[in-house]
Amino acid sequence: MKTNMKLGIANLMVAAVVLTGCGTNPSGSVAPNQESKPDAAGAAGKATEQAVHVFTARHYEVDTKLFEAFTKQTGIKVNEIKGTAEELVERLKREGASSEADLFITVDGGVLNYAKQNDVLQPLQSAEIDKNVPKQWRDKDNSWVGIATRARVIVYAKDRVKPEQLSTYEDLADDKWKGKLLARSSSSLYNQSLLASLIELNGEQQAEAWAKGVAANLARKPEGGDRDQAKAIAAKIGDVAIMNTYYVGQMLNSKDAEEVKVAQNIGVFFPNQSTTGTHLNISGVGLTKHAKNKANAIKLVEYMTGKEGQTILTNGSFEFPVNEAADKPELLKTWGTFKTQQLDFSKLGEHNKKATELLNKAGWK
Ligand code: FE
Repeated sequence: MKTNMKLGIANLMVAAVVLTGCGTNPSGSVAPNQESKPDAAGAAGKATEQAVHVFTARHYEVDTKLFEAFTKQTGIKVNEIKGTAEELVERLKREGASSEADLFITVDGGVLNYAKQNDVLQPLQSAEIDKNVPKQWRDKDNSWVGIATRARVIVYAKDRVKPEQLSTYEDLADDKWKGKLLARSSSSLYNQSLLASLIELNGEQQAEAWAKGVAANLARKPEGGDRDQAKAIAAKIGDVAIMNTYYVGQMLNSKDAEEVKVAQNIGVFFPNQSTTGTHLNISGVGLTKHAKNKANAIKLVEYMTGKEGQTILTNGSFEFPVNEAADKPELLKTWGTFKTQQLDFSKLGEHNKKATELLNKAGWK
């Protein structure tokens, strides 16, 4: 027990370091369970606490705003504990029944499934959640439910590329883009999941050839995140880039005038004609196996997936809502509908190892 407590505290520190490291939460809130004097507080203390403890691997400021809106409406506090998804799942496993966490939130369907497979979640049972989130955005056992989706698309320099020149992901491997293509590192889960989806839909051989073609066409050694690829287009280092749609929305609405300008000069292209359709991934939430504030945790998920929560979320992160009742930002409306990949999100996790191996083999650094 003592060892567990020590580990818990050590992890809390790790989480705090990760938090300040990523700099997404200037308030530096968190410190979730500092007040809970281990076992002495007891279950009764916790039951009257009216709080939900959230383990989250997401790094978007709007999530905090969403939780604050929920607190304002219900009086239930939300404590965020941040870390990488892997760290948080490990912690849930290690702490077992003594874990403070009620909810686990992350991006990526493969990662959500990884948490399910590690037996750290229990089904979210709520008719309201079922009504809010269409079946396609929920795990079949409701071990997790989607809160938003995101598309990984092609962006291009409006002044140098015509959308007619673009077609599919597959086409980005063509020689005509030699020295013109930009993408972040293959260590990014976003790229790993994109390739994992192509492994599932096009087969390993084609996926491998594609990764090689893309690596050969890169304008520079991968560096930075998705936003940096857009900036590199503005700097004329390359003409086309692979990027998640929501970063375009976040940049267009940034306080940084330079980011706004960069985003205004790139076009967003959905690879509808791709044999596979546009690659779509999901952000989701699961109820932890040992949640001590289960009723309140379910209330929070109902709020997050309801009209108001979805409107706040999508207007802040520029992801796509899972609940169509949301008032989407105008930008998303202008993008219209697009053809999406049809695949079981668990496949992203299943093929992750293979995808990483192929990316390395391809020389996509
Ligand atoms: Fe992101």
